[in-house]
Amino acid sequence: MAKREKKQFAVIGLGRFGGSICRELYSMGHEVLAIDKNADKVNEFTATATHTVVAEATDEKALTSLGIRNFDYVIVCIGEDIQASILATLLLKEMDIKNVWVKAQNHYHHKVLDKIGADRIIHPEYEMGMRIAQSLSSEKVVDFIELSDEYSIMELLATEKVAGKTLIELDVRAKYGVTILAIKRGEEINVSPVPDEMIKNRDLLIVIGHKNDLKRFEDEGL
Ligand code: ADP
Repeated sequence: MAKREKKQFAVIGLGRFGGSICRELYSMGHEVLAIDKNADKVNEFTATATHTVVAEATDEKALTSLGIRNFDYVIVCIGEDIQASILATLLLKEMDIKNVWVKAQNHYHHKVLDKIGADRIIHPEYEMGMRIAQSLSSEKVVDFIELSDEYSIMELLATEKVAGKTLIELDVRAKYGVTILAIKRGEEINVSPVPDEMIKNRDLLIVIGHKNDLKRFEDEGL
């Protein structure tokens, strides 16, 4: 596997969401600064973060003294205290940090975060709920990523119906308006399948397209 570029991340708020982001990034070999205003929380992360610090995210001086400007990504994972989440995001964007990702609690929180320039707004429960519902609703849907209200990427299970056919024969772009980006077969993933690539039963097809077209492909094509 290609070695990933090491990046610097700061995670603010070490609850369930921020905590799992912190642990995962650290285990992937990235440099992670874990921040929380609660010292007990911070202590839990001494072994699973590069640096840990007790700090109040709405305190501009504290953020500045942490050198937070130098981080590639700052992820604001403050749950209940929406006001603190908004103020911290505002301060971070004023400091010109390029990638500020923020967990949103609700639609109103989302709107404000959008206005003040949050670079990505995450709704973990909503997003996970959608993915699970998609997988539950059809045995063919293995995973699902919503790109916008209209477009998605889906991981679909190839059935007997398409097994033994090549991508040219399937012609999904012309028939359904969707594109097969990659094919997963066991541990292997082919990210640039050639037109005469033959599909096997139970291959995983990574397909991008309009939601309606994806649905049509799932129902009629597979
Ligand atoms: P989750 O739903 O992801 O578990 P929580 O609301 O339980 O989210 O956790 C949020 C974390 O953010 C808590 O550990 C809390 O101490 C921390 N936190 C909340 N407000 C601030 C703040 N102003 N500055 C720093 N950390 C904060």
